[in-house]
Amino acid sequence: MLAADFGNLERDISMLNASHCDWIHLDVMDGVFVPNISFGFPVMEAMAKVAKKPLDVHLMIVHPEKFIHEVKALGTYMMSVHQEACPHLHRVVQQIKNVGMKAGVVLNPATPLCMIEEVLTNVDMILLMAVNPGFGGQKFIPQTLDKIKRLRQMLDAVQSDALIEIDGGVSRFNANELYDAGANVLVAGSAVFNASDPIAEIDALKA
Ligand code: ZN
Repeated sequence: MLAADFGNLERDISMLNASHCDWIHLDVMDGVFVPNISFGFPVMEAMAKVAKKPLDVHLMIVHPEKFIHEVKALGTYMMSVHQEACPHLHRVVQQIKNVGMKAGVVLNPATPLCMIEEVLTNVDMILLMAVNPGFGGQKFIPQTLDKIKRLRQMLDAVQSDALIEIDGGVSRFNANELYDAGANVLVAGSAVFNASDPIAEIDALKA
C-alpha cells in the first residue's frame, strides 16, 4: 500500500480486492527505526475495513512488541517484525503467535542470515528486504538473490516450512528469478500502482 494513492485508498484497495493479489502488504514506518513515517493505526483501520484480502503487516518500527494487540485488532493475518528491532526476538515471535497471528521476521539488506538461525523453526515467514527500508520505489539490491538461495538451503536443512517473502524493487522483470531462487511471497508496490493497468500487472507478476 506504500505506493497507493493515499487520497484514494478506498479506490485502490477495491482494485486489489478485485485483482488476483493474495495479500495486502502494509508498511508501517516510525521515523526512528527507518528515516521516514508512513501511516499509523487510524489509517490502517480505515484500510482494513475495505480490504477483503488477508493483511500482511510489516512493522518498520522500534518496540514492535508494544503493538501486537493493535495489529491483531485490524484482523491481521501475518505480522512481521525486524530482527534488528527485537533483542528478544524469540519472545516476540511467540507473543505474535499466542494471539493467533502468523509471525514473520524481517532482515535488512546488511543483516546476515545467521541472525535468525535460532528461530528458523519458530517463524511462519522470513522477509528479506531487497532495498534499505524507508522509501518506496527503490532499486532491487542484486545480492538479495544469493541471500534467498542461502536462506532456502538453511530452511530445508532444518525442515522448516517458513515462507520466504521479498520486499523492495520487485517487478515482473525479476519475479521469475526471485521465485527460482526460492522466494514464495513477492511484495510489489510501485510496480503495481505505477502501472497503467494494475490488475494486469498483478496477473503478470503471478504468471
Ligand atoms: Zn514491507
